[in-house]
Amino acid sequence: MPTLNQQSFATRAVHVGERVQPGDYTPVSSPIYPSVGYTYESAADLDAVLGNEKKGYVYSSRYANPTIDAFEQAVANLEGAEAAYACPSGMAAVYLALLGAGVRAGSHVVATADIYGATYTLLQKFLSEFGVTVHFVDVLDLAAVAERVAAVQPTVLLAETISNPLLKVADLPALAHIAHKHGALLALDNTFCSPYLCQPLQHGADIVIHSATKYISGHGDVMAGVVVGTAALRQRIMDVNKLIGSSLGPFEAWLALRGLKTLPLRMRQQCTNALTVAHWLASHPRVAHVNYPLLDTHPQKKLCEQLTHGRGAGGVLSFEIRDAGRPEIFHFMEQLSLFQAATSLGDIYSLVLYPAMSSHRTLTPDQRAAVGIGDGLVRLSLGIEDTADLIADLQQALEK
Ligand code: PLP
Repeated sequence: MPTLNQQSFATRAVHVGERVQPGDYTPVSSPIYPSVGYTYESAADLDAVLGNEKKGYVYSSRYANPTIDAFEQAVANLEGAEAAYACPSGMAAVYLALLGAGVRAGSHVVATADIYGATYTLLQKFLSEFGVTVHFVDVLDLAAVAERVAAVQPTVLLAETISNPLLKVADLPALAHIAHKHGALLALDNTFCSPYLCQPLQHGADIVIHSATKYISGHGDVMAGVVVGTAALRQRIMDVNKLIGSSLGPFEAWLALRGLKTLPLRMRQQCTNALTVAHWLASHPRVAHVNYPLLDTHPQKKLCEQLTHGRGAGGVLSFEIRDAGRPEIFHFMEQLSLFQAATSLGDIYSLVLYPAMSSHRTLTPDQRAAVGIGDGLVRLSLGIEDTADLIADLQQALEK
């Protein structure tokens, strides 16, 4: 019988994080531990656990909690990492990953420009105010990335495996080479892929970030984030967390762990739906351009297939409606009935979003234009519904 680590992704997704504390009787599925405090017969034991000399629990999530541990172990296993740290949102994960990597006043961060809007603004506005110098680069221009990394010697090079919202694919081995040559850590926001499609650590990354609000939990009913990497990275984040208390709650950890079990099943259907819809949109006369990494027109199709081992490119795509601006896009969104106009992605429900209004609202119009996010750009997140029903919904909305 192969051990858990030798089994396939789908098997591990079902079993990791479960039955980790066997006893006289063992719950088959990890329970939720809401208790804040943990008591010991011996005060010396309590002291040893508080002092990190003995494994155990003393005070919930700011220190450690069994349900959160189970979720963290599961994600670490699926990403092929030593450790993971769970936090209350994807944005908390981005911020804590940077802190854990050693970003402080005086540090430089090089980041790709085509990233989730809140990440862009966190770097460009908030971290800059704290004395961090941020440099944005085009993920597709590796020469420019190398030149900037060499010039500023950043603490971190940050990118998204597949970018939000333009679906650019990061060349992970090349970025890792550039980062490591100049002593930087490569951090990848892997939200669009989930560990099922791509495990960035296997391609040279040092830190992986997820908004677990998306594919990992998958049902649009929990907000969570996770930072994945070495045990030392987790410890550095934990040391900060004991002071700032930015930890996931046990109920959310349990929901996210439950979501993980069906990740391969959901993601397979989402990839199929996205690819079929991408082809359909690409041939529609009202559509000017479709961004989806597995279309023949996508310049990085081959790279995407390599990084994801041919498993798919995820459930998100974006497209430009011909000659459309904000009023036409709003009208299109209002005509859709199956697609929900909601600001998330990766759920079992199909979602439609207007980046200029939602995910990239915090950017100025000039910043959006510089990144390449036009006023006619729409983003779809394909759920697990029947493909024909989704196309019928898009068809009637585009006709109107
Ligand atoms: N990273 C990416 C790529 C995202 O798309 C998002 C949210 O849409 C986040 C991070 C932030 O996640 P959360 O909303 O869970 O904070």
